[in-house]
Amino acid sequence: MIHTQPGLNEIFAHAEEAYPEEACGVVIGKPGDPSTNIIRRCANLANQYQQDDPIRYPRDARTAYIMDPKDLLRIQSEADAKGLEFVVIYHSHPDHEAYFSETDRDLALFDGEPLWPQMHYLVVSVKNGKVLYFKAFRWDAIKKEFAEEPSAVF
Ligand SMILES: [Zn+2]
Repeated sequence: MIHTQPGLNEIFAHAEEAYPEEACGVVIGKPGDPSTNIIRRCANLANQYQQDDPIRYPRDARTAYIMDPKDLLRIQSEADAKGLEFVVIYHSHPDHEAYFSETDRDLALFDGEPLWPQMHYLVVSVKNGKVLYFKAFRWDAIKKEFAEEPSAVF
């Protein structure tokens, strides 16, 4: 896949390297100015969480992602130092379509409200180790649900 949007190829490379597990990470930058975007990978701790507590975390890294909180703190510090914001959270769906799953909704909501109302959520479909396509989703404040962004710029 070829995309003109900066950073997408880095995200796709991560998704293919992580296959058959889910890749996850964030993009920090100045909202609306893709030239400032920096892609930062996060470790997916789903396997570790599942081993520690399989009742609470029934899914492993093939069907779930849990971004390493240490990575997120480090990236937050970097963003603060550079005057950047979290603009995208991305993850991949190995051998599944790119849709916003029930689990993805749960991770993005707190008490029915979006944790980050302006965030773009990128979901990348990877099949047989190759990225096929992605979709972007964002909170729709009127419909009160996550909706696909057909022509997202971030
Ligand atoms: Zn997902």
